[in-house]
Amino acid sequence: MIHSKNSSKTILKTIKNYGPLTCKDISKITNFNIPKVTVLVNNLLFRDLVEKVETPKKRGRPPKLIQIKSDMSFFIGINIDSENIRIILVDINGTVLNKLKIKTEPDSGIKNILNNISLKLEELTNVLGININKISGIGLSTPSAINKKTGKIIVSSNLGWSNINLKELAENKFNLPVTIETSDRAMSYAEKKFGIARSFSDFFFIEIGAGIGSCIFLNNKLYTSPAGFGGEFGHTTIIEDGEICKCGNRGCLENIVSGKSLIDQAKVFINNGSNTIMHRMTYNNIENLNVELICNAANEGDKIAYKILKDAGTILGNAISNVLNVLGINVVIIGGGLSITGPIFFNSIYDSIKLRTLSWIGKDLKLLKTSLDKYGAALGAALFEIDDYFENFLTKEEI
Ligand SMILES: [Zn+2]
Repeated sequence: MIHSKNSSKTILKTIKNYGPLTCKDISKITNFNIPKVTVLVNNLLFRDLVEKVETPKKRGRPPKLIQIKSDMSFFIGINIDSENIRIILVDINGTVLNKLKIKTEPDSGIKNILNNISLKLEELTNVLGININKISGIGLSTPSAINKKTGKIIVSSNLGWSNINLKELAENKFNLPVTIETSDRAMSYAEKKFGIARSFSDFFFIEIGAGIGSCIFLNNKLYTSPAGFGGEFGHTTIIEDGEICKCGNRGCLENIVSGKSLIDQAKVFINNGSNTIMHRMTYNNIENLNVELICNAANEGDKIAYKILKDAGTILGNAISNVLNVLGINVVIIGGGLSITGPIFFNSIYDSIKLRTLSWIGKDLKLLKTSLDKYGAALGAALFEIDDYFENFLTKEEI
């Protein structure tokens, strides 16, 4: 039986995108009949491009699952934020094999930061006996405005960078292909591939940390405009004559709801001598104030901390409802530092979305917290690079 090369590529791509899969699953997705799938899969097994793995099924003889040969290539995922650099090592199926964290030191400059990362790569691979030469690419994310086409960071207010060609600098440093993405888009991709978003084709993802990043999955695809952006609502105008934002506009959502904004608001109350336990909780050093502390104070009944969280949740919920009404979708996933906040913030967001979203859009509203750990953005960045690698592999290889 002779099958076209395209059929083999379709099978490989299906296994890569949806695997591990049984031959029956592959048949369903590709519309190839099972005998054809079996022959093609056997050929790929013979050529050492895929491997069989056991299913976790408890009873009876488990059907074999097929996945891309996991030691075919390895990849590094990196997320750089203003405090930490998180680095992970993954195989081609996106399985995390090792991870570590170092301090960012943003003032030391981008070249120094890339240098610090490169010193850690062997540490990450050596302990597993993986030769560093088996690394095929790097995915790099940061919470910045990025032009993915050029690899340039347009501006990163949290890291203090602007107009830096991060892709070029990183490729020169590591001598490997590098994919650049914003951290919220990277997180959303990891969430779609391995997290709670697996079962949703359409959702709005928000990363709230020091700032706000957001993106949209529509019909199982991360929306990207022709200019290389999409879904950002952190700089939508909430207060026309509000404070000047780092982006140059006034009254942006990020200026009112982000972690930094909540801390700034709490500081104003403390400095005005308001009746709050937050000052005592910082051991009388206002610089110790953080979002966790505001949440703890609110949970202990502090009315000011409660009001800060509740008002922020209301404003964020209003802004989210605008997006849901425009897109006609009803799943929202929140990640980032502020996703650890307790029920006061989340309930306030939920109530406000429910109140403001058109009833026929918001009736089955799902407001979910991210299921990823703090390495989620690094994982997503690696997944983007794996996609690029795989596309190039399929184009070049005779399969
Ligand atoms: Zn702004």
